[in-house]
Amino acid sequence: MNALLFKNARLIDPTQKMDAKGDLLVENGVVSAVGPNLPAVDGAETVDCNGAVLAPGLCDLHVHFRDPGQTHKETLETGCAAAAAGGFTAVVTMANTSPAVDSPEAIRSCIKRNATMDCRIYPAGAVTKGLAGKELTDFAALKAAGAVCLTDDGLTVANGALFYEAMEKSVPVGLPVSVHCEAPGFEGDRSMNRGDISKKLGLVGTPALAEELILMRDLFFAEKTGAHVHAQHVSTRRGTEIIAAAKARGVRVTAEGMPHHMFLDESAVLECGANAKMSPPLRTPDDAEAIREAVKSGLLDVIATDHAPHTPEEKAKGMAGAPNGIIGLETALATCLDWLYHRESFPLIDLIDRMSAAPRRIFNLPKVALTPGSAADLVLFDPEREWLVDASKFRSKARNCPWNGRTLRGQVLMTVLGGRVVCDKR
Ligand SMILES: [Zn+2]
Repeated sequence: MNALLFKNARLIDPTQKMDAKGDLLVENGVVSAVGPNLPAVDGAETVDCNGAVLAPGLCDLHVHFRDPGQTHKETLETGCAAAAAGGFTAVVTMANTSPAVDSPEAIRSCIKRNATMDCRIYPAGAVTKGLAGKELTDFAALKAAGAVCLTDDGLTVANGALFYEAMEKSVPVGLPVSVHCEAPGFEGDRSMNRGDISKKLGLVGTPALAEELILMRDLFFAEKTGAHVHAQHVSTRRGTEIIAAAKARGVRVTAEGMPHHMFLDESAVLECGANAKMSPPLRTPDDAEAIREAVKSGLLDVIATDHAPHTPEEKAKGMAGAPNGIIGLETALATCLDWLYHRESFPLIDLIDRMSAAPRRIFNLPKVALTPGSAADLVLFDPEREWLVDASKFRSKARNCPWNGRTLRGQVLMTVLGGRVVCDKR
């Protein structure tokens, strides 16, 4: 029998408002018992948690695994391994691979390949063929194949009339439309935030206005069509205010905040160079504070990573020449524990909601809970344990991580996927 008995855990499950000491038994891939003082089971491996937190596995609605097309940067396998190392048991992969994930065949191929990997992949389907912004994909066919959302992430669909039509067509299909918010024509050189630091460095930068403008368009479209818009990687204070106003009007909008936009600001490029370059860029300290506050209040429903692997050679091209993106799966929980929980007293149950329960809820993914019968997709973590981030040891193929060399407080100890131990750092 394949069985695991977790003893002396702090069981936290936001789906049932549970935060209690206890034990949890996993048998044959599912949770079979939860409670105090569960008896030993013949053949079960016992894991003494010593008070560490056992929670439903984390879920990231925004990752780039570069497969197919750029498998020297990441593959579905290495991306899933990195996810497992970060406590994630579910990820939504973006469609901007090469070729793009714009057909039912591409969705099915991804899902089929994923069957034996260390994390569940829920693929996104492209809004437009080849992400070219010209012709819509077949939304119903993508959904039937297993797509969980529609997005041209990495790019904004510039043609407003076409994107309005996309929103209209997403409604009967029942898929959220995930939007990358950079207004075409306002994106500048996409090197970093436009401000004093970009000026000093002689870079054009991308103004906050680029995000704010297109967010206004897309939320207006959502209001008119009834579409569910999911605003990706919100990076500006005004962006959070625009979303708050839309939510107050009853617009179907959900949104993401990223660890890097919460815990770093534009000055990080002076220290980390292109390893602090992503799109949308790191903004001002005031913007970062606004993103943290919005995640804590739930205005931004989820924390996601935008895990975006690139090679060291590409990142060595400097702020102007390097591609956008940083990796985040193996540091997300630790950075959030360090900042939100330790420094700002954000409750653990709410943090786990933003990283586990809320993402599954808003994208209609299978629910995972600490209840008998649920899939045994679990993360065990020690909120107190400190560790030095050494990107050279990551399971991801990539090393473009701005936290490299920093000590973080809070570490994943173990990740379990369908009852199988996929990461063990105890
Ligand atoms: Zn994006």
